[in-house]
Amino acid sequence: MFDITKIVRPNILNLEPYSSARDEFEGSEGIFMDANENPFGDLNRYPDPLQKAVKQKLSDVKGIPVENIFLGNGSDEIIDLCFRVFCEPAKDKALTFVPTYGMYEVSATINNVELEKIPLNEKFQINTEDITLNLLDPLVKVIFICSPNNPTGNCIKAVEFIIKNFGGIVVVDEAYIDFADAESLSKKLDIYPNLIVLQTLSKAWGLAAARVGIAFAGTAVIKYLNKVKPPYNISTLNQSAALYALQETSKFELQRNIILQEKSKLLAELESLDFVIKIYPSDTNFFLIVVKDADAIYNKLISSKIIIRNRNKIVKNCLRITIGTPAENEALLAELKNITL
Ligand SMILES: *Cc1c(COP(=O)(O)O)cnc(C)c1O
Repeated sequence: MFDITKIVRPNILNLEPYSSARDEFEGSEGIFMDANENPFGDLNRYPDPLQKAVKQKLSDVKGIPVENIFLGNGSDEIIDLCFRVFCEPAKDKALTFVPTYGMYEVSATINNVELEKIPLNEKFQINTEDITLNLLDPLVKVIFICSPNNPTGNCIKAVEFIIKNFGGIVVVDEAYIDFADAESLSKKLDIYPNLIVLQTLSKAWGLAAARVGIAFAGTAVIKYLNKVKPPYNISTLNQSAALYALQETSKFELQRNIILQEKSKLLAELESLDFVIKIYPSDTNFFLIVVKDADAIYNKLISSKIIIRNRNKIVKNCLRITIGTPAENEALLAELKNITL
């Protein structure tokens, strides 16, 4: 039986969270003389600390109950909260599989938590037989798995194996799930009380500027995330932007379909370039490609003001290219076709 109180840090278990003025009285009607706000203006009131309207909309769109939803100032905030809730600094550990999203390591370091980095195999998958001991290590409190993974672009197959065989928290970062055929693990919260699924409005939903990240988890986990988060972590402006985007599901579908169409066009064109050695399969809105000389190609593109991501230091001679608008993809291809190495 999974017992969350064995995983949460003792100081967080006993934490009496900050009770904001807006926590004490629910409702928007009334004369508010409780929060020392300026009584005049449009943005003069503190935002809803629990973002109830956004969560309700998200619940409708995603088919997940409101009580299983937590919102952060980007998923990056939720990654940091996971360390703060579960990992005792200078004692507990976290684990991830590399190459992967860089924020797990940055957040671990800021929180003074050791992050074990297990290499993915040549197919960018987890060798489950290599990690039996890690899964049993009582000091490992959180495992981060990015699936579909950034920067490799593929879905990770062993995710459920790890959730079932690990006694701590498994954070599955699904930032790119809207571009994948795979089903979100958020549908399985009932069977996995140690699961946190991260999603974001920053990618397919087109709202990176608004900083809205999502965690889907069991109510026990949600309770501790709410305890530790800053009271007003998502501004009223950003909550409005999220609400607006989530109402425009047809715009979301349309944009995603264009991106996916452009992705297959770009794939065919990239394959025809002679300096492209390999294009990894992608369940995302980007390609990781192996080229003859990543640094040279990266720099040539930079000089034409086309910015891609040079991943050479992480995966030898690899570049990561995000799918752009049709015109942007044309411009990229025109430049790439000009390059001779
Ligand atoms: C882009 C990205 C995010 C998004 O982070 P936000 O803070 O929500 O913008 C999260 N995880 C991964 C793997 C990403 O690539």
